[in-house]
Amino acid sequence: MKKGIDVGGSFIKVLWEDGRREKFYVRDIFRDNKAFVERLREIIKQGSPSKVGVAVAGFTSLEGVVYKSPNIPALDRVDVKGILLEEGIEGLVLNDVSAGALGEWYYDHRDSKNLLFVAIGTGLGAGFVSEGRVFLGSCGSSLELGHHIVERNGELCNCGRKGCLEAYCSSYGLERIYKRLSGEELKDYQVVQRAREGDQMALKSIEVFKDYLTIGLMNAIHILNPDRVVLGGGLVEQLRAFMEDMEARLKSSVESLPSECFKLEFSKCGEFCMARGALALVLMDDR
Ligand SMILES: [Zn+2]
Repeated sequence: MKKGIDVGGSFIKVLWEDGRREKFYVRDIFRDNKAFVERLREIIKQGSPSKVGVAVAGFTSLEGVVYKSPNIPALDRVDVKGILLEEGIEGLVLNDVSAGALGEWYYDHRDSKNLLFVAIGTGLGAGFVSEGRVFLGSCGSSLELGHHIVERNGELCNCGRKGCLEAYCSSYGLERIYKRLSGEELKDYQVVQRAREGDQMALKSIEVFKDYLTIGLMNAIHILNPDRVVLGGGLVEQLRAFMEDMEARLKSSVESLPSECFKLEFSKCGEFCMARGALALVLMDDR
């Protein structure tokens, strides 16, 4: 039986073909390369799968090597495909949000010709599925939408550049916008909670967040001309009630032809999104 694995910095999640789900805590070893790789190897082997799809949070080459993982230091330079080969397990490796995009198309949006998936949480990632195939670029690192510049000399991003979309539209981005406005340091979920209670600074912070997100998505739509834009990720789920007007905002910002072409939707798949995409990858590989 096949399974999809999502390798994150806090949990490694597994989704089996028959719907079984597993979740392994790894936060305690996410800086320890040796321990992390051993754990990952065990999880890959567990249950003797016939084939494994692996989704990794990081810059992942077409050969399945993680060049850099900003949120999981233990994964830097790890050859994930090599682990599969050493264990004699057939499988494929992909960046996590590219996998997520494939999962969206495979399970929920088969009618889409060009689907852009944007996941916002700790960071901001994106994936693109065109005619049923995930677009990875020449080396596997396309769709780094989080690291395109929306503000020259703007806020510092985790990648080291200034003014990236992620520097505004991510958990740390929202926390920083709130701090700039109010002087107070809160976690992302606390900002959202305050907004629910009607706190003006929190509501204003979410407006700023949405302004930048509109610019970022508009740029992507002008480049890719998708028919579906799917927003997902933990922060989007938290902010869902404040994002009802995102489609209208975007449509009024984007040029009329691409604007007519797309629908904005919210992902319905929750925390096993990326594992689901990794599973879709190996299911599709056999067709
Ligand atoms: Zn960046």
